[in-house]
Amino acid sequence: MPVSKRIRGSIESSSWIRRMFEAGAVLRARHGAQNVCDFSLGNPDVEPPPEFQRALQEVVAETIPRKHGYMPNAGYPEVRARVAEQVAREQGVRLSVDDVVMSCGASGAMNAVLRTILDPGDEVIAPVPCFMEYVSYVDNHGGTLVMAPTLPDFDLDVDALESRVGPRTAALIINSPNNPTGRIYPAATLVRLADMLTRASAKIGRPIYILSDEPYRKLAYDGAAVPGIMGIYLHSIVVTSYSKDLSLPGERIGFAAVNPAADDAKRLVDGIILCTRILGYVNAPALMQRVIARIQGISVDVEIYRRKRDLFCGALSAMGYRLTPPEGAFYLFPQAPGGDDLALVQALQEELILVVPGRGFSMPGYFRIAYCVDTAVIERAFPGFERVARKMLS
Ligand code: PLP
Repeated sequence: MPVSKRIRGSIESSSWIRRMFEAGAVLRARHGAQNVCDFSLGNPDVEPPPEFQRALQEVVAETIPRKHGYMPNAGYPEVRARVAEQVAREQGVRLSVDDVVMSCGASGAMNAVLRTILDPGDEVIAPVPCFMEYVSYVDNHGGTLVMAPTLPDFDLDVDALESRVGPRTAALIINSPNNPTGRIYPAATLVRLADMLTRASAKIGRPIYILSDEPYRKLAYDGAAVPGIMGIYLHSIVVTSYSKDLSLPGERIGFAAVNPAADDAKRLVDGIILCTRILGYVNAPALMQRVIARIQGISVDVEIYRRKRDLFCGALSAMGYRLTPPEGAFYLFPQAPGGDDLALVQALQEELILVVPGRGFSMPGYFRIAYCVDTAVIERAFPGFERVARKMLS
């Protein structure tokens, strides 16, 4: 057998997002790309900002010895220092070059961190709905993802999370602003989470880390603040990227930052650096490191996504869809009218509209719309959404 049993199983149960993407390819071939409204992927349509284009051209034009050579596995020290300054501003704690490891996107950072902290049989808790790649990332390193429900408004249910803690709990993943709900966890919730984890860590005799997955941090609407976890909980690690806020998912650039106040923080960082190497990433892409160091704090214009959110939320609500407007990121997570997310997704596909069923995020009964697409596509989809709402609610 050329493919292991484990991977064969994973291919067969491949993610819903990918399945929808593939269904989209079939619909496009049959009906023409211009007739399909694809809201299945979080692939930003907004071009990277002009500051990025300028920085890229400067870096490309510069003559730097060994510009394309190997480097320390953690990344260029001057880049890590610039990133540390920005993270310190966002998180409200002091960080230095030694607390940051550059990575191949948020996924690369998360895999390096999980490889560092997990022993086989360890558990990682995640509130659902969540980005389902977490299941594979944890499994990659011998762990198991344990899911816990959130509250009806998608805020964290700290009691439910506490009920999932056991002797093998190594970490808890949070993602705010959230994919798929757009929820930003308030500081008061994070303080209660931190208190719970501090008590639970003492009880099980090991620190339970919070892995804060933050690729949507800068995509927050209406001036909403995204609280920094490092000022709230000692054993915290931020993993993130420039995939969404600078629209660079293909460039695979991000980082992990460790709270310097965590026990044994230096050893943790050393572990992440080693794992970046031994997982085969070796280091984050060289050119991109130099580019992002020059444009710290810059992001795409969030107003573009805010306008799309308002347009979509207003129209869907008027049609009878029930949803909570997202506070950040670029996803809507409405309830499936009629309650069956698979039936809803199928009905929308018949209208050449692609969305992802809630069960793709471990939350049946809902569906996800990625609205990081052209406004014309959003408007074109409205009549189809309306017909489906009428059909499912009749
Ligand atoms: N975490 C969340 C919540 C995401 O939605 C994504 C991508 O969609 C990632 C991580 C992966 O990001 P990256 O492309 O930076 O690896």
